[in-house]
Amino acid sequence: MMTRELVRCIKCDAVALFSPLDRSPEYRMDSGTWKIVERDDRQAFMEAHRGHPLERLKILDDTFISSQNYREPVKTCYFEVTNGKERFLVKRSRKSALDPLRYELVPGRLRINPMELRVDGAAIQKELERSLSHIGLSYQEIKHFVRELEQLVSRVKPDELTRVPYESHHPAVRYYYLNEPLIARALEGASRFLARTDVERMGAFVRQHLRDDPFLAVAEVHFHIETHRKAHTLRFMSP
Ligand SMILES: [Zn+2]
Repeated sequence: MMTRELVRCIKCDAVALFSPLDRSPEYRMDSGTWKIVERDDRQAFMEAHRGHPLERLKILDDTFISSQNYREPVKTCYFEVTNGKERFLVKRSRKSALDPLRYELVPGRLRINPMELRVDGAAIQKELERSLSHIGLSYQEIKHFVRELEQLVSRVKPDELTRVPYESHHPAVRYYYLNEPLIARALEGASRFLARTDVERMGAFVRQHLRDDPFLAVAEVHFHIETHRKAHTLRFMSP
């Protein structure tokens, strides 16, 4: 689990995040053989900034973003931190899978925009067919509901739904819970094509599902770094 704080040297504008791994040795290929290099990042940072004013920066939830997959070892991520008064943007990167993570402050603000929401209609269709076959609903009858849901969700803004708290497989993908009003409207739309009892039975199942293992909406997230604001304030900050 990620430590939620970084340390910033106010004088040099350098940042570091310390963890037990900072003290573990690194393995490097040198002339065809692996060499163990002892390292202690915390010690090195404290030495380099001896006598300088330091402050703690708290990582702000929901700002962590990368254009690459979480499993990609050599990736660049961005997130925002605060010292309680100011926000800073941090870039996290590494040169290779064997190198330690490096943190640096970069000027600007992170702008994160979740794009259009969608549901996995094919997966919901399959799940409903499997679970509702015993009440005799056909593929086409279920499809009416799924299509309504797909159309409704595509018109909803991400901030109207509750975000799923756990992380997705990709930092640029976010998941949201479908809520009762959306389900009610999709059922209402489907009721134009279905018998009332079928709508009721489908509704009962979907609502039960909503409580136990909710269907999710997904949105891709686009981000950019806005740099036009007084980007170099940090440079001139005296200790
Ligand atoms: Zn310093």
